[in-house]
Amino acid sequence: LKKVSKSVTKNAKPTQMGAVLGAGIMGGGIAYQSASTGTPVLMKDIKHEQLDLGMNEAGKLLLKEVERKKMTPEKMAKVIAQITPTLSYADFGATQFVVEAVVENEKVKKSVLAEVEKSTSADTVLASNTSTISITKLAEGLARPDKFCGMHFFNPVHRMPLVEIIRGAKSSEETIAQAVNYAVQMGKTPIVVNDCAGFLVNRILFPYFKGFAHLIEDGVDFQRIDKVMEKFGWPMGPAYLLDVVGIDTGVHAAKIMADAFPDRMAYTSKTIMEVMYENKRFGQKNGVGFYEYE
Ligand code: NAD
Repeated sequence: LKKVSKSVTKNAKPTQMGAVLGAGIMGGGIAYQSASTGTPVLMKDIKHEQLDLGMNEAGKLLLKEVERKKMTPEKMAKVIAQITPTLSYADFGATQFVVEAVVENEKVKKSVLAEVEKSTSADTVLASNTSTISITKLAEGLARPDKFCGMHFFNPVHRMPLVEIIRGAKSSEETIAQAVNYAVQMGKTPIVVNDCAGFLVNRILFPYFKGFAHLIEDGVDFQRIDKVMEKFGWPMGPAYLLDVVGIDTGVHAAKIMADAFPDRMAYTSKTIMEVMYENKRFGQKNGVGFYEYE
């Protein structure tokens, strides 16, 4: 954070209208966070049912606030009205900041970013919420790579304070400053980190998941591991955390980490997460992962 010059941050334009691409776990969470802290946001997906899911999730979070008497029903209606679900880029010209949060796949992300770049103004900053893919790589096909950086939120977005802002090889200081500003606008704690697969937090988290997978191979029950880690003092154990993250997202990200750091992160045999992925046990998002959900 200290590396962002204060004068640049001071002059960075506030985001008056944001957008997220992808209305999944993260896109929905980022849209909620932006709207509930006062910045209207467009939420685009390719599937209508995902938009409904994203809006329902935001509604549930807001309802909890109302039940806890932390928000009035009138304010709740106002916040919901700040999120505009959409299947098109029609209104993207009015945005100052777009956070891409589609599936963890380099090819899909590159094509979505190239698409959105054509639908936004030359000043709009684009950021990717990728967990593991290098920002410099994602910028390869962009006409304005200087207006692109990483903005990595954590799950669940409304509860996790940290946001990693990732400086790609071509990200400008103004772009980094605008991302820092938007994160602060959303009530988050941004840190600026350099670019590499997994950035900072996931370079710690994925070796932890790898250790967890090896323990399972050694015959230790996953529920026992979760209980031990909770007693150790962590808010949740690795199995429950993987269910929250999404087993599909975890498997895709683990492959990217293994390719980037083969000596440290490659698996020699199929992991429990890969077996679950093949059996469509994706975690909370589809109701069944390590645990079962209603
Ligand atoms: P998700 O599977 O819940 O949602 C992905 C969404 O992207 C879906 O709604 C899908 O319909 C949509 N989508 C796919 N192609 C699209 C396109 N071309 N245009 C618009 N929308 C499209 O995934 P998620 O967990 O929200 O993850 C999204 C991103 O955030 C990934 O890059 C992931 O690595 C990253 N991330 C995830 C977590 C986590 O804990 N799940 C945490 C931090 C970052």
